Amino acid sequence: MTILRARPAPLVAAVAALAAVTAAGTALLPGPAAAAPGCRVDYTPNQWPGGFTANIKVSPGDTAVSGWTVTWTYAGDERVTNGWNATVSQSGSTVTARNMSYNGSIPAGGSAEFGVQGTYGTAGGAPTGFSLNGVPCNGAGPGPTTPPPTTMPPTTAPPTSAPPTSVPPTTAPPTTPPPSGCAGAVLCDGFENQTGSTPSGDWSVVSPDCSGAGTATVDTSTAHSGSRAIRINGAAGYCNHVFVRTTKNLSGLGGVRYARIWVRHTTAQPTDHTTMITMSDAADGNRDLRLGGQNGALQWNRASDDATLPEQSPAGVAQSVPLPTNRWACLEFMVDGSAGQLRTWLDGVAVTGLTADGVPTHDIDGQWYNRTWRPQLTDLKLGWESYGGGADTLWYDDVAMGSTRIGC
Ligand code: CA
Repeated sequence: MTILRARPAPLVAAVAALAAVTAAGTALLPGPAAAAPGCRVDYTPNQWPGGFTANIKVSPGDTAVSGWTVTWTYAGDERVTNGWNATVSQSGSTVTARNMSYNGSIPAGGSAEFGVQGTYGTAGGAPTGFSLNGVPCNGAGPGPTTPPPTTMPPTTAPPTSAPPTSVPPTTAPPTTPPPSGCAGAVLCDGFENQTGSTPSGDWSVVSPDCSGAGTATVDTSTAHSGSRAIRINGAAGYCNHVFVRTTKNLSGLGGVRYARIWVRHTTAQPTDHTTMITMSDAADGNRDLRLGGQNGALQWNRASDDATLPEQSPAGVAQSVPLPTNRWACLEFMVDGSAGQLRTWLDGVAVTGLTADGVPTHDIDGQWYNRTWRPQLTDLKLGWESYGGGADTLWYDDVAMGSTRIGC
């Protein structure tokens, strides 16, 4: 993207003037691109020291639009460095995001989602002055507004002070209620039935390739729900692999399987290739399909031929997102073995760069489809594997796998 470094334009005043005219009944932007009153822009940030991402959901309201331009203004020194599902530019403190060719049309009552990634020097305030096609949104008058909390899961927790979202301890002994939202799933485990410090029962500790300093334990101090989660101490360097592998028979899932995994980790994903979640592929010599990271963002990787999704070009990496640190994140994916397709969601938002949709796309799934891919997955392993640099401490909780999407 291009970051325009023009001096800050008096955009707020311009928006105010435009809104005043609009409120008086004069439609300045007639036609299909205009936004109806009642538009909403929901901005959901995830911030860490020096950087941030934000998911933005734009809802035009009662009238469909055939194209959209969303603008907002930062209160601090935030600088947007790239975006996904939109063409994003910044002038002064004002950010402008325009639709891509494939997501410009939003029906009445519908919405589109896009995201930005950026940096900041000092803590910034909440963005304000959201508008769609020049019309202020979120029920705003002409002045800047602060959007109310969105319907997304909590993603605004500062990274170093976010407490685990565990249920307060009670005097009742641990029970084994399934984590919420697992209905019908073949695998549905919040690890509350683990009795010792070593994962057992429905899970076994494995190091498929080689083992070293990595450890997997049942943690009773950090959990997404209940009082237990799996903790992985993942060391840097090859041969410190460690995973917990489900002992459940997943064959009943068939060829289409959806997973929902709550994961929390500590260290931002490094430039080097790392892996968190693997699944053995019987159609690929039992080599693993691996979900991890590279170049600072989430990445799928095929162990057999080292193909990556997205491609690790800068444009490809920009279509993925980093796994946020020091908070629980909801990771979902779908693998369709017969169609040879794959989808991934982070906190409920589909990630373009982690999508193999059957049609090779340069920078995204072009390399993935360099051969026919029809995976037959047989297991699920949660842990840590690094092949160079990259140590991390991770927790997994509320893990589910089923034949339909489970949700967060
Ligand atoms: Ca738990």
